[in-house]
Amino acid sequence: MPWGNAIAVTGVLRAACVKLALAVLERWGGAPGAGAAAHERRIATEVLRSMSEAVCVLDRSFDFVSVNPAFSRMTGYGESEVIGSNASLLDSAQHTSSYYVEIRDTLQHQGRWSGEMWQLRKDGEEFLCAYECSTVLDGSGEHAMYVLVLNDITEQKRAEQELRYLANFDPLTNLPNRTLLAERLSRAIVRARRQGDRIAVLFLDLDRFKDINDSLGHAAGDRILRAAARRLQDTVGPRQTVARLGGDEFTVVLEGLASAAEADDEARGIIAAFEQPLLLDDSQEIAITPSIGISIYPDNAQVPTELLKQADTAMYQAKAAGRRTYSRYTDAMDVSARQRAMVSGALRKVLDRGELRLVFQPRLHIATSRIVGVEALLRWHGPEGDIPPAEFIPLAEESGTILEIGEWVLREACLKVAKWQRLGLPDLEVSVNVSALQLLRGDFPGMVGRVLAETGLPPASLELELTESVVMSNAQQNADKLRALRDLGVSLAIDDFGTGYSSLAYLRRLPFTTLKIDKEFVDDLSQGSEDAAITTTVLAMARSLGLKVVAEGVETEAQLRFLREHRCDEIQGFWLAPPLEAAECPAFIRRWRPSAGLPSLEADLAPAG
Ligand code: C2E
Ligand code: MG
Ligand code: MG
Repeated sequence: MPWGNAIAVTGVLRAACVKLALAVLERWGGAPGAGAAAHERRIATEVLRSMSEAVCVLDRSFDFVSVNPAFSRMTGYGESEVIGSNASLLDSAQHTSSYYVEIRDTLQHQGRWSGEMWQLRKDGEEFLCAYECSTVLDGSGEHAMYVLVLNDITEQKRAEQELRYLANFDPLTNLPNRTLLAERLSRAIVRARRQGDRIAVLFLDLDRFKDINDSLGHAAGDRILRAAARRLQDTVGPRQTVARLGGDEFTVVLEGLASAAEADDEARGIIAAFEQPLLLDDSQEIAITPSIGISIYPDNAQVPTELLKQADTAMYQAKAAGRRTYSRYTDAMDVSARQRAMVSGALRKVLDRGELRLVFQPRLHIATSRIVGVEALLRWHGPEGDIPPAEFIPLAEESGTILEIGEWVLREACLKVAKWQRLGLPDLEVSVNVSALQLLRGDFPGMVGRVLAETGLPPASLELELTESVVMSNAQQNADKLRALRDLGVSLAIDDFGTGYSSLAYLRRLPFTTLKIDKEFVDDLSQGSEDAAITTTVLAMARSLGLKVVAEGVETEAQLRFLREHRCDEIQGFWLAPPLEAAECPAFIRRWRPSAGLPSLEADLAPAG
């Protein structure tokens, strides 16, 4: 009967065969000699030969007596090479020699040993081995020999380790993930309680990472995250835990602090460390700053979840305080965080509920004293009353809701003004504000083209307003989209000019048609003031670049006079009109006469000629 073939069939069978072979060997050791024994021995030998488990037999001094072919395959040693040599031949440097001595001791005294140990192949490669060792006694009850069954479990262990790694570490940065962070933080709390010291949890978010990621691409984004992770760990040192919670959010656990002020020092240190640009793998440099929120054990909270939540809340406070800064949690923050959560929750339903509306602020052409256009401004009447755009637009941008809202604003503005044009204001233009995200995501020019076609508003009647920071956030990619918009025939305005860092020289390369000087510079336009000088220069430069200039937030006659003297093209502001409800706007424009607002200027403002 070909035992070998039968044995090789299944794993279950194989395990049974190991047992059988061992039993036979035991009897062979115990009662040698008889004819039947010789037969059994032949069977046993055959079984061992065909097994895929490596089996070896050692004598009392742990010298090899026999090995099966699987043993040779596993270790690389042929039978003739090992017979007579000591089993220490396979000892690996992964364990101390005393470890092997101990195991052999156990086997000698207890008759069995099973476990895992590293072994060395003939070619010098180490492998992890699962051992089943037992003693075979001779007739007199003396130790006759040892039978060892070996299984190479290196691959299996590696796979297990990989799984464990994936469950606990972030593969992008190799930092602990949320799971391991929670575990380490819990242990840190136990230690701090025992030692009576403090722990700081720092929640760190990279400023404007999303813009960078969107503009440079995700591969560059990944490199930035890896570089930021390294910078962070280098700054706080190898003994403190730095974890990545996902996205551009990192957490640092600082242990052994004597005071909360030490956490502030660390946060300042981290911000200072990020002043140096990050070096990406391909030697490209990028400047990015973090905003940090801090929560302290036991001052602020006692449990990991609470500490993390508070640090997160404090981080938002740091962002609100202008980014590139840190903020330590206080109870008062919780209230504003809850409010923010409520507003962003409500924002999601805002369109369905019809809580948004547009108001329209007229714009005056100074030279002809005619109202030539209106700016559409968004208003939200929420369940709790009116919420100003400066408050909810940043939240809508953060959550991405601005995409839907922005499209609604554009369609609504075009619909309204197209209607007013048909009702007797044929030349009226409308300006619509655009957020960074709208320009970045999807096919914005395509969407604008569709809305114009659907609403019937002539493209020349539409102006899109973009702030400097919107344009500069992703200059190259935006330039293409801006050109596509100009190709549609719409005008493009730089909004709030003067509040950002862009230079006119740079903006000149982009296809803008209009520049809106921010209210901040219009506020103090007394002769000789610094703002007056800036505004005069901007007006002169804009003219030389062929841009139309609109001054925003004009509230007084004096401001108007100054702007007219310096040949500003148009004004907008409370002097002329506040933003008006749609129902009042067309009537206001029709009624408007230069004299209505400011009799003393009537002669100056009357149409020339
Ligand atoms: P903006 O585009 O610069 O709009 C001008 C802001 O100045 C408006 O504030 C307007 O009401 C206000 N304003 C106009 N004249 C005067 C004045 O003489 N004195 C004073 N003190 N203020 C004046 P509002 O409506 O609160 O809007 C604030 C900002 O919110 C806007 O600034 C714009 O950046 C943004 N925004 C408004 N509607 C939208 C929208 O539909 N989409 C987007 N993305 N942003 C919008
Ligand atoms: Mg605007
Ligand atoms: Mg503005």
